[in-house]
Parts: sequence; C-alpha cells; structure tokens
Amino acid sequence: MSALRAPVTVVWGVGEERAKLLARLNIFTVEDLLLHRPRRYEDRRKFRAIREVRLKEAATVRGKIIAAGVKRFRKGTRSMFECIFDDGTAHLYCRWWQAQAWMPDWFTVGREFLIYGKPDALKPRTMTHPETELVEPGDDEFIHVNRIVPIHPLTEGLTARVMRTLVWRALEKFVAGAREGATLFPEWRVADDKLAARPRGAPTLPSRANAVYLIHFPEEQPDVDVARQRLALDEFVEMQTQIQLRRKKFEAAAKALPCGGDNHLLKPFLAGLGFKLTDAQTQVLREIRADQGGAHPMRRLLQGDVGSGKTAVAACAALMTLESGFNAALMAPTEILAEQHFRNFSKWFQPLGVRVEMQTGTRKTSNLQPPTSNTEVAGNDAARSTSTLRSAATNDGHHASPVTLYVGTHALLNSGFELPSLGLVIIDEQHKFGVAQRETLVRKGNYPHLLVMTATPIPRTLGLTLYGDLDVSVMAESPAGRGEIKTFLRTTETLPKVFAFIRDKISQGRQAYVVYPRVEVADTDLDIKAVTKEFENVQRALAPFKAGLLHGRVRPADQERVMADFRANRIQALVATSLIEVGVDVPNASVMLIENAEHFGLAQLHQLRGRIGRPLPSSPGAAVHAHESFCILISNAQNEEAQARLKILERTNDGFKIAEADLKLRGPGELLGQQQSGAMKLRFGDLIEDLPLIQQAKEVAAKNLQSPG
Ligand code: ADP
Ligand code: MG
Repeated sequence: MSALRAPVTVVWGVGEERAKLLARLNIFTVEDLLLHRPRRYEDRRKFRAIREVRLKEAATVRGKIIAAGVKRFRKGTRSMFECIFDDGTAHLYCRWWQAQAWMPDWFTVGREFLIYGKPDALKPRTMTHPETELVEPGDDEFIHVNRIVPIHPLTEGLTARVMRTLVWRALEKFVAGAREGATLFPEWRVADDKLAARPRGAPTLPSRANAVYLIHFPEEQPDVDVARQRLALDEFVEMQTQIQLRRKKFEAAAKALPCGGDNHLLKPFLAGLGFKLTDAQTQVLREIRADQGGAHPMRRLLQGDVGSGKTAVAACAALMTLESGFNAALMAPTEILAEQHFRNFSKWFQPLGVRVEMQTGTRKTSNLQPPTSNTEVAGNDAARSTSTLRSAATNDGHHASPVTLYVGTHALLNSGFELPSLGLVIIDEQHKFGVAQRETLVRKGNYPHLLVMTATPIPRTLGLTLYGDLDVSVMAESPAGRGEIKTFLRTTETLPKVFAFIRDKISQGRQAYVVYPRVEVADTDLDIKAVTKEFENVQRALAPFKAGLLHGRVRPADQERVMADFRANRIQALVATSLIEVGVDVPNASVMLIENAEHFGLAQLHQLRGRIGRPLPSSPGAAVHAHESFCILISNAQNEEAQARLKILERTNDGFKIAEADLKLRGPGELLGQQQSGAMKLRFGDLIEDLPLIQQAKEVAAKNLQSPG
C-alpha cells in the first residue's frame, strides 16, 4: 500500500484525539493532510510595527502582553477579554467579546504572540477578534516565522500552529525525498509524466512533489499560484480521464442505427414550416445529419438561448430518423412543455403521415387514431383517451405501423415502457436532467442517437467537465422577429402601479404572467409570497379580467385546461410558479411580473422572461415580429449583492453573459445539480476560472488513453 494512503496517525504527534479532530476536516490519510489547502498565507519575514498599523488594513504584528483581563458589562451578562500587546513601538489593544474560560490562562503577561487582524480604531490602536499565535522560543522557529507561512482551515481544538507543524512533519517525512527526485510514490511519478505531455508554450509547472511542498511553504508569493495550478491540473486530468473512458466504453459497445435520412419527409416539412431556417439552425442540422448517419450513436448537446429555435431543429432531427424507418422520442421536464410539444409536433407531422404519441406519467395520447365513442376531443388537433392508445398499441401487431414520435416527460424514464426500434432520443431543457437519468434513458433505447437541448448557456469550463462526453453545438443567432424585452427592477411599494400597468396592457389585448417562488406559504419564511395565497389578490387587482392558477400541485388535467384557456385568451393572466419556466409559448403574452425575484437564480429568471417577447405566427414569407414586452422584477432584498445580481437582468438580454455572472456570484451548484456536484470535489481546481487548465487536461487525458503505460 502506498504510504500516501496510510492513516494520518503515522505522522508523529497525531494520536487518537487529534485524528478525531482532523477527521472533522475530512483528513484521514497522509495524502489528505498533504493536500489540506491553506486558506491564506502570512508573510512573516518582516512584521509590521504596531506603530505603523493602519485603520481597517490587515496586518501581522508581533508583541508581548503587558496587561490582560476580563471586563464585565450589564450586570455581568456580557463580558469582554482584553489584552494589551507591546512591541516596543506602540501598544495594541486586542479584545474578544464573551470571554472564554481558557483565555486568562492562555494570554498571560510576558507571553509573546503573533497577531493578525484589521485595526478598527487607532486611538488607541485596537483589533477585535484578531487571530493569534503563541510564539514559543526555540520551537520550530523556522516553520512558524521568518518565512511565508500557511494558515490552514482549522477546527476547534486544533490551532494554526499545531496544524502547520503536522503538515510540516508530513512533508519532511514523505515529500522532501521526492522533491530531490526520489520516486517515493509511483502515482505521483505518473502524474509528472502526464505533465510532460502538456501542450507546447504552456508555462512550466513544478513537479507534483514540489507543488505539494510549495502550496504549504512557498518561497515567494508566486510559488503559491504555480503550485495550485499544478495540483489543479492533476485533478482535471483525473476528471477528464474518467469522462473519456466512459465515452470510449460507450463507443466500443454501441453501434448506431443509420438515421441520416433521405429528405422524403424533411423536404415537405421545411416547405410547409412558414419560415426559413436560420444559418445557425442549418449548420447544427448539418452536424446532426453527419452524426446520425455515422457509425457511433450521436451524443450531442445543443445550446441555444431562449427563442433561438431549438424546437424546429428537434423536429428536423426527428424527421431524419423517422424517414430512415426508425422511431424517435422527445422528452421534456414538465407535462406542460410535453403537452405543448405534442401539439406542435402533431400539427407538423400529421400531414406527413407520422404518428405522434404522448406518454406522460398520467396519460397516453396519440394523434393518428380514429376517434372512438368515448374519445374526449380537446382542441381540434388531437384526439385523446387512454383506451384509444391501448387499442392502437394492439393494432400495431396487425398493421404495418407508421413510424412514431413519442413525446413525454421524464416519467418515460421510470415507466418501464419499452420504446421499440428507437433511433433517436431528444431531451429538451437538459439542465433539468442529471447525468444518471441521461444514462438510464439511453440504455432503455439500446443506444439510440442522443440530442440534448438546453437554453441554459453552460460556460465552457462546465461544458467540458459536465458534458465532456458530449459534442457541443452552439446556436448563437436567434431568428429575426424576437421582440425586445424591457426589464425593470422594483420594490413592493410600486405593486399598485405595476398592476395598473398590467391592466392597461390587457385592455390593449395582451396577456400577462404573474410568477411567485412558492406554492404555499411556509410558517418559517413569511416574506416569501406563495402563489396559492396571492392568487385571489391578483384576481382582485386585475378584475374584471380573468386569471388562472398554475403550479406543480394542480392536477395535470387541470393544468392542461388552464393552459388551453390561456392560449385561447379565455383567461388573461396566468398566476404561476416557475413551472412555466421552460418552453411555454404564448406569443400574445407580453408582460411578466415576478415577485420575490431574489429567490430565483439569474439563469432561471432569464428563462422565465423568455416566455414573453415571442414571435407571432406569420404567413410564409411575411416578416416575423413580436409584441413589445415587459418584465417587472419585484424584490425588497436589502443586501447589495442581491440587488446587483438582479440589476444584471435589467442591463442585458444575453443569456451567456447572465449565466457567467450567475456562476461567478453563486458558484456552479445550481448548474451542476445535486448528483453531479458530489462527483466534483475539487480542492485546487476552479471550474469557473480554470478553462485553460481544463483544456490542457483534456488533451493530456486523451494522449494518455491513446498510449497507455
Ligand atoms: P427555444 O430555442 O427556446 O426552444 P423555440 O424553438 O420555441 O425556441 O422557438 C421560438 C420561436 O421561434 C417559435 O415560435 C418558433 O416557431 C420560431 N422560430 C424558430 N425558428 C425560426 C426561424 N428560422 N425563423 C423564424 N422563426 C423561427
Ligand atoms: Mg424550447
């Protein structure tokens, strides 16, 4: 067993007790200790004189205690511990609110300390709750002072000095030799060989052993950065290797069905579509056709901002498959969106003789069945009933069945439903699906081609890691005719005015969305509005116009009715949760009000407002246009960061800029989803900033896999 995997107790000074404390920091092995990343560094080669400290400017000083004691206030309910340090140039008062029992025994007159903090007053010079470290004469002076020293993340009962000592001992015992070129750890040598495969022109990075050393004890400040880069690179190589292995395994196992098509359905479809594909759409379709006609199943991620026309691309990809004689499936994250796709595709495909079948958790419907006596006809484009589907399914055995497009929600994944001769799976709005789900689905269909579509612009770093096993297409251009959306950030005081504005738009013939973050009010957060509670208020505010209620707990059949009413303008306002976030397309709706906007992610808000400003149906050849649209964000959030975040939406409609800003402000959690974030514990790598390293790692991993050993 490699010494790196040895329990941390092999380090001198770590017994049972300390091992328990270290475990709280997720340090179990020697390697964990060696990779325990300092949270900051202090340059202790030269200390600031106490006389020289500046207001609110962090500084490290060194001083002896000349007085110390506890002060009590308010009849003893509040206490403060105070020490006065002297370094020969001036005095520094340090204070801690709520004196701890150990303090008087620790901070005794005559002891010398290093003190790090920001002065909050200069007359007298004062620091509140500074970090301190006892200076013990003769004890490892060269570790703790006279150099740039690491300050590690700590836990109660473990001081910075003890932690630094333990790390130092581990480095001396396990790494110092490796720095000299000794091959202590085979796995580190492998990592160094990988490094040799770095692209030409990239800056030289230290060996892994050196990097581990320098991350704790840099000789100069810049050492920290190169060491971090080196360790991050190793993490990314590891990650990319896994991703590429997964893809290789998949390619070895999977043979593709030929789904490139012959245009006999695609041509008439495009001719009747009513608009010309944009160059971006055409380009993506060229890529898709090459993939679907190739030897390995396609695995493609299509990224395009809200309204860029991904649905038409999906339709064309499906038709290529269908005209090749295989079935296709289209999956959406919500029933509403699945329902909408079902309508559109039924309308588009019916004239082509393609069957479209709806498969959701609650219901199955098909467009190509003779209406039976118990068929309920909703709208005039689809006949629906559970019993008709079953009969259609049994009919399949007797007649040569037409090719079928299955439309559904991800309930399709769990239904145990077999999709026969499945050539293509399209997943709409992928950010709602985890990798695991994606895999399940693909396995169901015995490796069909896979097209994943998302409007959430995934910054390239994440694309390379999360979707490293997919090819990525980006549609940067949106079809002309997309309306401008004007966005405003307001507070609740303006609500009466906002509702007056909405009434005004409705009386001009438009429709509106009103969105709330919650379905029901929780006792714990009374400040967050819930859709069920606000519904009546909205109804009253907009009367005599009509409003409908839509959220996840409304029965699917009722959801559908409300949507149908809204589409037909029988109701003028849709009061909803973020359920309507994806896909919903009602071009007459031109106003959106979002309350408690601070409770949504920026990318999510951008998606939501993508429901307005949608192009109006037009006759072939005529110019497409949309209603002038307004999105009003309501937030009473006091903190500056929340305000700054929401202001980004006022400024830009560019989904990529918004996603990047969101990522910077909130970290990758929201984009990664739960399943994925667990797999991405990076100690040194930064998914936001490290694009070049990730790219290098990708190449290194590819080279390694080509020539193993
Ligand atoms: P998203 O990419 O958000 O899924 P959609 O596919 O819903 O976008 O398309 C948005 C709107 O743009 C739809 O009304 C669609 O009919 C229309 N559209 C798509 N492609 C074109 C095009 N090439 N020219 C004009 N309008 C288009
Ligand atoms: Mg869409």
